[in-house]
Amino acid sequence: MPALEALWESRQLTNNGPFHQQLEQALCQFLDVPELALFCNGTIALLAALRALDLEEGEVITTPFSFVATTHALRWAGLTPVFADIDPVTLNLDPERVAAAITPRTRALLPVHVYGRPCDTAALDALAARHGLKVLYDAAHAFGVRTPGLLRAGDLSVLSLHATKVFHTFEGGAVICRDAAMKRRLQQIRNFGFVDELTVDSVGINGKLNELQAAIGLLQLPRYDANNQQRAAVDAAYRAGLAALPGLALPPGTDPLSHNHSYFPVRIQAGFACSRDALYERLKLQGILTRRYFHPLISRFPMYAELPSAQPDHLPMATQAAQEVLCLPLFAGMSVADSARVIDAIQAVTRSG
Ligand SMILES: *Cc1c(COP(=O)(O)O)cnc(C)c1O
Repeated sequence: MPALEALWESRQLTNNGPFHQQLEQALCQFLDVPELALFCNGTIALLAALRALDLEEGEVITTPFSFVATTHALRWAGLTPVFADIDPVTLNLDPERVAAAITPRTRALLPVHVYGRPCDTAALDALAARHGLKVLYDAAHAFGVRTPGLLRAGDLSVLSLHATKVFHTFEGGAVICRDAAMKRRLQQIRNFGFVDELTVDSVGINGKLNELQAAIGLLQLPRYDANNQQRAAVDAAYRAGLAALPGLALPPGTDPLSHNHSYFPVRIQAGFACSRDALYERLKLQGILTRRYFHPLISRFPMYAELPSAQPDHLPMATQAAQEVLCLPLFAGMSVADSARVIDAIQAVTRSG
């Protein structure tokens, strides 16, 4: 690969090298955002974003229906997570439940665009403005979602560029921000807090993405649109093939252009031929690996389960969603024929009961 030769010749293997700078620029353009700082992964990007917003103590309201890294970042930053319930349709934080969870100790909101489906950013941002709160969006699922302004909402948004996401650098992450001053602050936090050769002015971390990974990102980015079209075709095939099955609820329809088709979460409800977990097992026996994202809820993990806001009766919608949801296979390179096999297997389960 010529890119690799150029990389080796340059002798700059990390620390904001040429590939890194090119990828930051290319992503700003591609995502239509003003500024973006790359990180070594999404979790460190979340930590750096919390530090850049000067969030060091107090409560942060967040969703239990996400990947565990969302809440772990709060704990690593010394913040207290407060769980609020989700909207039963979008599965994102319900702004009314967030409003009810605000206390004098609340400092910020950490919502997640779950499965790449946009949060009600207008309501959440307005709520935060009214109460003087910061808003950090976990946009780990939302790369390429074209809803206007989505990645400019709140104070900062964080992406994950992990191999399981729709665009990746094997491991990687990014923080999206509005201006050059915030980008500088993120760059300093990313590099141990160094402001210049001799000055360290914050408790920074090593959050740098290396040149090899940045070059991989540059090679992958031009393929995003074709991959997305392929995912859209699989999404459409699933919708057509599973529409008539009793007890199986499809994900809400989305504008195919704005969506990134990162996940295909169906809900297995009363009236389906078997339980969600039985369906998971039966598909697995046929080599079809589905995922029960996000079961268990983050609030059920032992380090959070004792929090008052973690009690299941406080989180009825999230609790129900975690019991019902099953993400069907949807990955780069998957064909409509692959999805037909999954559809056939699910239909066979409904016939046999
Ligand atoms: C993947 C993911 C993360 C963590 O990102 P990494 O790059 O794996 O550290 C955080 N939040 C959500 C919602 C994720 O799906």
